[in-house]
Amino acid sequence: MMDICTDVLIVGTGVAGLFSALNIEADKKVIIISKTKADECNTYLAQGGISKAKNKDDTESFVQDTLKAGRHKNRKEAVEVLAKESIKNIDLLLSLGMKFDYKDEEFDYTREGGHSINRIVHSTDETGKMVFETLYKEAKKRKNISIIEDCILVDILKEDKSCYGGIVIKNGSVSLIHSKFTILASGGIGGLFTNSTNRRTSTGDGIAIAFRNNIELENLEYIQFHPTALYEDKDRERRFLISESLRGEGAKLKNINGEAFTDELLPRDIVSNNIWREQLRTGTDFVYLDISQMGEKFLKNRFPGIYKGCLARGLNFKDGVIPVTPVQHYFMGGIKVDLNSKTSMNGLYACGEVSCTGVHGANRLASNSLLEGLVFSRRAAIDINSKIDDKQLKVVKKDITLEKALQLKKENLSCALEQFKKVLGEKEHELINNR
Ligand SMILES: Cc1cc2nc3c(=O)[nH]c(=O)nc-3n(C[C@H](O)[C@H](O)[C@H](O)COP(=O)(O)OP(=O)(O)OC[C@H]3O[C@@H](n4cnc5c(N)ncnc54)[C@H](O)[C@@H]3O)c2cc1C
Repeated sequence: MMDICTDVLIVGTGVAGLFSALNIEADKKVIIISKTKADECNTYLAQGGISKAKNKDDTESFVQDTLKAGRHKNRKEAVEVLAKESIKNIDLLLSLGMKFDYKDEEFDYTREGGHSINRIVHSTDETGKMVFETLYKEAKKRKNISIIEDCILVDILKEDKSCYGGIVIKNGSVSLIHSKFTILASGGIGGLFTNSTNRRTSTGDGIAIAFRNNIELENLEYIQFHPTALYEDKDRERRFLISESLRGEGAKLKNINGEAFTDELLPRDIVSNNIWREQLRTGTDFVYLDISQMGEKFLKNRFPGIYKGCLARGLNFKDGVIPVTPVQHYFMGGIKVDLNSKTSMNGLYACGEVSCTGVHGANRLASNSLLEGLVFSRRAAIDINSKIDDKQLKVVKKDITLEKALQLKKENLSCALEQFKKVLGEKEHELINNR
């Protein structure tokens, strides 16, 4: 067993993990770990874009749209922070080399369901890939940051109700990573579902570890189903997402008889429910997204990733319709945190999809997730920076065999499944419970 010491341990190489690392003071040692390869995160898959207040005057309207989509179950202070700090965080991303699409020397703002105006910045339909590559490239340049891939957190190191790092498995052996502060940025839960747009590796590890250590969780029942994943009758590891921005740019939802049945720019929970109802009424497993009026050239340029993804699955934009159906997509609940991303345990922070800042309420407004990852991971880093010089590193002694660590990993998965079985009730069959 190996002991490794660092100032900050960060679990996750998505937007939240990488951006928090980049905001930790440059003279502090940071270790970031990822369960598989660094780019195998949901951040890399994000298509539509990142919401931002268009200018200071748009902040209030952005807040109101987020509250309305969240069914007013949001934490209002957190929503205000998100909207107010959106411009600054996008500027910081740009300063690291992020490339967005522009039109007439302005951002090419697009629109998605629930937004009252066009306020989403994007990089074609592969925004997440660009965000990941920008942050990862910068993190690799920084001398104080080390990234360790294929390294699985199985538990935190704790003593006297405080966190002092984590227990990890790498290359078939166990290591203890001792840290002054730990940030969980381990993403969502879609890998627990049969049908999800998420990576299979998103199995709610952070949620399970928090639950097993009596760290406060919140809103576990707030799970988002995206209205328009590509419908395929084959079993797939992951369902291919047809971004909401296609609807923002004019695609229409039609039932199998070619009839309109919903306003496609309502918040996601409402559109998903309307689609399910229509599928039930017409006895089908899908509805159509009608793109026939949008022009093939425009579609190919604006949505190259979705175009290629559809072609690879035997579907051509020329056909004019894409069969779609709702699937699990996002988790609004998570580890309860305050406005600085602090959890209920000393020394432990959580940000990104694993956390519950309360920003999304019961239903996330489109493109608010990457933004939440940026805003609240930076806040975590700023809070840590303000405390780190006064904190001593404590090395918690623990003797743990590989067998025991593997057992913990297994227990995390069953614990996550148990938690979500409880909240899903009769929909529990949607979980994969034999993994
Ligand atoms: C197809 C798709 C499209 C999307 N489009 C958009 C969009 O356009 N706009 C938007 O705002 N949001 C979008 N989202 C949501 C958004 O991408 C995610 O919510 C966000 O990227 C989550 O970032 P994260 O940093 O919290 O987690 P992730 O990016 O999922 O990263 C999680 C990290 O944690 C690591 N990890 C997990 N468990 C462990 C463990 N036990 N040990 C070590 N490491 C671990 C993983 O290896 C990974 O590195 C989309 C999501 C999907 C799936």
